[in-house]
Amino acid sequence: MKQCRRLNKDAQGQRKRQVSAHPEETPAKRRTVKRKLIILAAVLAFDVLLACICAGAAADFLASAPAAAGTAQSGLKEAEPGPDSLEEAPGGSGEKLIALTFDDGPHPVYTKKLLDGLKERHVKASFFLIGESIPGNEELVRQMAQDGHLVGTHCYSHEDLTKMAPQKAIEDITRTNEMIRDISGQLPDHIRPPYGRWSDDLEAAVGMTPVFWDIDTLDWKSQNAAKVERQIYKNVGKHQVILLHDVFDTSVEAALTVIDTLAAQGYTFVTVDELLID
Ligand SMILES: [Zn+2]
Repeated sequence: MKQCRRLNKDAQGQRKRQVSAHPEETPAKRRTVKRKLIILAAVLAFDVLLACICAGAAADFLASAPAAAGTAQSGLKEAEPGPDSLEEAPGGSGEKLIALTFDDGPHPVYTKKLLDGLKERHVKASFFLIGESIPGNEELVRQMAQDGHLVGTHCYSHEDLTKMAPQKAIEDITRTNEMIRDISGQLPDHIRPPYGRWSDDLEAAVGMTPVFWDIDTLDWKSQNAAKVERQIYKNVGKHQVILLHDVFDTSVEAALTVIDTLAAQGYTFVTVDELLID
């Protein structure tokens, strides 16, 4: 760009020199003047053409610069491309948001360990509880709500809700919702249906938001912290819901390690409702 401007200045200087070289007007000099005017017009045309080329090059440079800067800034992230890694978050924020979700709790030992680890790291997560696991673990449910986690419903006894009689499924969900409300003071409005099986009729009947997932860690299957971590790193992207279960020590261990690693790479952990709204 600077070089282009310098070239333009030189061309202008040349024009000035040409104009000041013929102050008088005699018939003999008119042809010379005419030739010089033609040259001047040619110089001007060249000048305009040069300016256009420079402007085009500058526009191309400006358009490519932010993309190049972005690639450099997120170098660590780019080394681990996920299915959504090239997508911007809705709203165009481009923030690297992750929602960790934990099903099947509360568990007296592992949920407690997880809650303490999350608190220590100032991280919020989402829990989808099984109704029949709540009695005896009320304090954990209270702590979830107090610490700012999203407390949602999984179901009462982990059955496939779509295989139950509709009225029975609604009662199953309602019963669990009320147990959570009695402890936390808030009626859940998000549900993680067991096995991800859900129906529009159920949704209309209970008026809750179903929450599915982007990354299935298969933590229940491997029960191996290193494998769970690898599964997340391999698939992680900017705007994803990760499925875990806080009834396994290995899952809790993996979750806390992943938080430390991804937080260092610029990821922010949010409750799932924030991710769905964004
Ligand atoms: Zn489950």
